[in-house]
Amino acid sequence: MKSSRMTRKHLSADSLVALLRNRFEKLPDSRSNQSPISMADAVMSAFAMFSLKDPSLLAFDKRRDDENLQALYKIKRVPSDTQMRVILDPLPPEELRPAFGDVFRAVQRGKVLESYRYLDEGYLLALDGTGYFSSEKVHCPNCMEKHHADGRVSYYHQTLGAAIVHPDHSAVLPMMPEPILKQDGEAKNDCERNAARRYLEKFRADHPTLQVVVVEDALSSNAPHVRDLQKYGMHFILGVKEGDHAYLFEEVRRREEEGLCVESVIVHTSEPHLKHLFTIMHDVPLNESNTDVRVTFLRYIEYNATDDTIRIFTWITDIKVTKANVWRVMRAARARWKIENETFNTLKNQGYGYEHNYGHGEENLSVVFALLMMLAFMVDQVLQLCDPLFQGALEKLGSKRLLWERMRSLFYEYRLRSIRELYEALYYGCDRPRPRIRFDTS
Ligand SMILES: [Zn+2]
Repeated sequence: MKSSRMTRKHLSADSLVALLRNRFEKLPDSRSNQSPISMADAVMSAFAMFSLKDPSLLAFDKRRDDENLQALYKIKRVPSDTQMRVILDPLPPEELRPAFGDVFRAVQRGKVLESYRYLDEGYLLALDGTGYFSSEKVHCPNCMEKHHADGRVSYYHQTLGAAIVHPDHSAVLPMMPEPILKQDGEAKNDCERNAARRYLEKFRADHPTLQVVVVEDALSSNAPHVRDLQKYGMHFILGVKEGDHAYLFEEVRRREEEGLCVESVIVHTSEPHLKHLFTIMHDVPLNESNTDVRVTFLRYIEYNATDDTIRIFTWITDIKVTKANVWRVMRAARARWKIENETFNTLKNQGYGYEHNYGHGEENLSVVFALLMMLAFMVDQVLQLCDPLFQGALEKLGSKRLLWERMRSLFYEYRLRSIRELYEALYYGCDRPRPRIRFDTS
């Protein structure tokens, strides 16, 4: 994507960190005693820990006296690991929402968001739940609980992740996730469905006019959720499975047998060994108890003549699917995978330590850490999309794991003035100094 190669100053790492620092200054601080460490310093330090991909709070603690931390992440006083836990634990997670909004608006202002437009109906917003913490010992009042038959109890946290995705872009634009937690006064575990409801309401409050097409897996294809999507003016493409949506599939079969309201489309592409067959059926009831919820059913069969295999995908949508847009609707639906592949898998397997326990706390610490890690990931994704230096360094080193490793070692070895200088050193390389050994002559 050519436009992403352009440097947009306000989307550089240093500008985004300054933007966040400014926002963190406004965070509430309920501590009554005068601590030498401000809330902004504590939050920024946690952000720096995830930005640098330190594998643990202890690893971060070891770099506490590094002046690069103060200079690059604009931290006045870096807290110890214990201080960081104590300061962040009472912070209400919702207070971090404006920080996500700030980065998102910067992306909107830089016209980067526009490059994510794929369907006429709106940006593709992929939603999915994922777990990041599970323990039989460590827990907090927000933990969800699983009671096993043998009396053991597992405590766990999940989150409903959200990202704007595009079939042709590997970078995603993450948004503020919705924690899936035991809610105040609720005895029963919260579930993904309730979290999705809260998510949609908050998304609409944050972005009253942003047009989106929500793409989700088959767990989301239920009438209350579809009604919520309609209520908040969001389009949708949701997976459906024969096993979970028997009534819908039975109705589809009946209409096909009777030749009613079925449209078949075959699409040819430059790959002659692949055949793409689509079946479009409008105005189908989602299920027996909610026949008022009418959707368009779309089936896509990909036949591969090379090995004689077929792959079948089925979705429901409110988009007016026609012969002209069916290919794009299919690609949009399949881009849902990027919330798993490009978001959760990157966080879990490419150095972010999404499933590491940085500290659980007695109130909000676990959630606050998860959100700040997502915020660091969001900033990295913006850089991957817009910053030629970041792109060049990643290309040169070949993997994110190696990029983070080199970044940490440069951070450690050299005195730096800006994050830009760090990426310049990563991309262009730097002269290797000879060691200056200070002998102890006492
Ligand atoms: Zn917990």
